Amino acid sequence: MFDLWQSVLSTLEQSVPTASFDVFFKHNSLSQNRDGRIVISVPNIFIKKNLEGKYHKYLLEAFKKNGIDPEIIEFIIGNKKDENLKSARTMTIKDTPDIIIRPATGLNERYRFSNFIVGSNNDLAHSACEHILENFGDTRYNPLFIYGGVGLGKTHLIQAVGNSLLEKTPTLRVSYITVETFYREFVDFMRKKLSGFSDKYRDLDVLIIDDMQFISGKEKSQEEFFHTFNALYQNGGQIILSADRHPSEIAGLTDRLRTRFEQGLSIDIQMPDFETRCAILEAKSSFAGVDVPREVIEYLADNIKTNIRELEGALNKMVAYCEMRGTKPNINDLMPIISNKNKKTRRQVMSPKVIIEKTAKYYSITLTEICGKNRSKNIVGPRQVAMYLLRHELDLSFPKIASEFERDWTTVIHAVHKIEKNLSVDFSLRDQISQLREQIYV
Ligand code: ADP
Ligand code: MG
Repeated sequence: MFDLWQSVLSTLEQSVPTASFDVFFKHNSLSQNRDGRIVISVPNIFIKKNLEGKYHKYLLEAFKKNGIDPEIIEFIIGNKKDENLKSARTMTIKDTPDIIIRPATGLNERYRFSNFIVGSNNDLAHSACEHILENFGDTRYNPLFIYGGVGLGKTHLIQAVGNSLLEKTPTLRVSYITVETFYREFVDFMRKKLSGFSDKYRDLDVLIIDDMQFISGKEKSQEEFFHTFNALYQNGGQIILSADRHPSEIAGLTDRLRTRFEQGLSIDIQMPDFETRCAILEAKSSFAGVDVPREVIEYLADNIKTNIRELEGALNKMVAYCEMRGTKPNINDLMPIISNKNKKTRRQVMSPKVIIEKTAKYYSITLTEICGKNRSKNIVGPRQVAMYLLRHELDLSFPKIASEFERDWTTVIHAVHKIEKNLSVDFSLRDQISQLREQIYV
């Protein structure tokens, strides 16, 4: 029988350098090919990211050469069968007679308006976003600049706009990226001595860029972003930006870029008040299907005032704790958790083994691999993340971590420092670690 995937692989083998082929294609499989929708299973996030970012064109061509004209190509991690694929959408390649390749939207479908709780802290930002949905193209809201502290819902909100716009008008070209991705793509462009970088984004309908504060001091990127912005703006594209502070407070921002940022609407998100914190906790626990008594909700809302991410973390931690003890969430169990808010309680709840296992699972590698001696990049990275988490979540000493991995503890110091250093520049790593943290306490 004609094996489409084998045949696509042979085609790819001829068009992609051997080393890349071995790493990025060889271990994948075809999970679905139906109604123009191709789903490819990949072993880990590293491969997925590279396929989305770099190699999707080769794939599209290879399918075409084999007589398939995909409407959509999606990547999932793991080896899922058809019925599990519903929520797997991560990337879309739209094919028209001119072969328009639609890049990954970058949106996480989890971020919705329907699960975003509106309170006095974010109602202005929320209604500005709704306004864009209803009056797409209103230049008064272009760009929309949402700012506020860490963990207050900026990413959630700006991605919800993207998701809703796409739901309403599936043909819109929407892209969500972090400023780091923008920067990295730009540097890559320069390295290859290509020109016309701003063309890359000019045909989008909606460009959403997160964490704009990190463009501070990067002059070349700012210049390029300025051109991108203008090109998109003149074409009537909607631009939505976020940052941890108002544009006027971002140091090292050129004046002309600051002016652009401020020409639309800038709105902040604040820490939610007590009532909103309760509403968020109620919503999250009912979504998780856990019955949490009102007094517990209030206790949490009263004690955690830093940000919503922490609030979610505490809720998850409490649920995990109660599950372990086989009790229902109640105020007595809660007090020790929240009163030693920090690592001590985590230590009671979590063993190093669980963190290592969850990290391995997150990166789709095995426990043997993460603890073993293999030094290939896609194993070493997760291993270093696990070491970092043991240090930061459980406060373990370096020698203790070293013993978990049967390694010299100087290796552990190196790994932990490396991750710490990378976290300030590598946004996808930051996202991975915050997702992992969430999973660890679920
Ligand atoms: P930021 O980008 O501002 O750092 P995020 O958007 O990542 O914050 O939000 C942190 C976490 O809190 C996410 O899991 C998000 O879904 C949740 N969250 C934030 N604001 C709300 C809200 N108003 N309603 C429900 N969940 C929220
Ligand atoms: Mg964010």
